[in-house]
Amino acid sequence: MKFSIKAGKLQPNTAAAALFVCTDACPCGQNGVDEVVAALCAQTAADEQRFVGSQVWHNGSLQALAVLRLQDTDYAAVQKAVAEAAVWAAKQPQLAVDVSALDAAAAATVVEVLTIALAQAGYRFDGLKKEAKPAALAEAVFYSGEHALQAALNVAEATVYGMDICKNLGNAPGNVCTPKYLADTARREAEAVGGQAKIMDAEAIQKLGMGSFWSVAKASSEGAYLIELRYNGAADVDAAPVVLVGKGITFDTGGISLKPGEAMDEMKYDMCGAASVIGTFCAAAKLKLPINLVAVVPTCENMPAGNASKPGDVVTSMKGLTIEVLNTDAEGRLILCDALTYAEQFKPCAVIDVATLTGACIIALGHTASGVLGNNQALVDSLLASSRAVNDKAWQLPLFDEYKEQLKSNFADLQNIGGRPAGTITAAVFLSYFTEAYPWAHLDIAGTAWKSGKDKGATGRPVPLLLNYLRSQAQQG
Ligand SMILES: [Zn+2]
Repeated sequence: MKFSIKAGKLQPNTAAAALFVCTDACPCGQNGVDEVVAALCAQTAADEQRFVGSQVWHNGSLQALAVLRLQDTDYAAVQKAVAEAAVWAAKQPQLAVDVSALDAAAAATVVEVLTIALAQAGYRFDGLKKEAKPAALAEAVFYSGEHALQAALNVAEATVYGMDICKNLGNAPGNVCTPKYLADTARREAEAVGGQAKIMDAEAIQKLGMGSFWSVAKASSEGAYLIELRYNGAADVDAAPVVLVGKGITFDTGGISLKPGEAMDEMKYDMCGAASVIGTFCAAAKLKLPINLVAVVPTCENMPAGNASKPGDVVTSMKGLTIEVLNTDAEGRLILCDALTYAEQFKPCAVIDVATLTGACIIALGHTASGVLGNNQALVDSLLASSRAVNDKAWQLPLFDEYKEQLKSNFADLQNIGGRPAGTITAAVFLSYFTEAYPWAHLDIAGTAWKSGKDKGATGRPVPLLLNYLRSQAQQG
């Protein structure tokens, strides 16, 4: 889908479907625009509606015209308001949007939110179907009036770019998106935006002493890889980087602690942490953010086999801590802990890991908010601020020392599960043993990374949150 900005006001009698956006403070009727538009705008007020779309005779031809009258212009309100308009707009082959009646800040928000909404409405994952049905909408032009809106459009397009990478990886089935596929795609996508990639294989993983990661990977006949992506955008190449770490289990059977069969197909989404990290990395590089950024992704399958880890096995992590594997389905933390130790070498200013880690997070926060935990409140606060800025909801859970009791093992330094109480927290507490060297935050996206049922599919979250955080770091740096 192609998006662009044009200066000036939209003349309603264009070939494209025309959408006029205004607020209660600037209804179209007062703005000296075309009387047909003014009449539509008046109709929104009369019907107490925020959006009215219709086919009207206009200068002798039938044309799709619509008015969206916003009540509030903060990000979340605009996101809610454009939903109906986006459904209407997605059916038009060509769209022209006039935001010239809005003030500069509101116009920028509408450009950002509507671009993302239209792109998401037009997103398809149909490469595996015989007949692909592309979305109708091919092009949208924003008429900006006097406002400078290119920056807002660039952010929106980068967000879409990152979310699409994330969704494409997430939606690809486990027999397509294997660890090798994930590694190859990460390399190709990173290099396409000027990043560098280093892919380490099973032999390298074992040489690094990643006994915990390897204990999960070893039972699969697919390979295991540690993916490292680097992007240096800061003026100082030695400036401390932000490191994003993503869980890349391309299929999670649970291992010997085998999962039940119902909805097991959705375990292809257990690499959505990795997908969001790769997508965010590429979006940041595409925006040429002036920061240094590293992405680290451990990727493998979690399978049962003759050589699989058994409950009770004790493994040694890269850090040297031993772990009693009481449940082989709590494998995400086993691969992440070694990746988090690996991240130390970058002397990062912040490390954020992203993982579909615990079913308990769905019990706690549902499918609305991602869980956030961390050892540095300033970092957690920055992530929560970004989450609010782009309405990619997240909520903090505590990391009190008392929870450490639940990870005590009679046979090793740690055990990999802490029982049913506070399952999201004890998973993060487990990771906290490996993140003492730097400011760290953990995003549990088990409830937010994908949707089930009729709308089954990857959501692209939390790419918007992460990209906003990186942009805020770029502004501070
Ligand atoms: Zn698992």
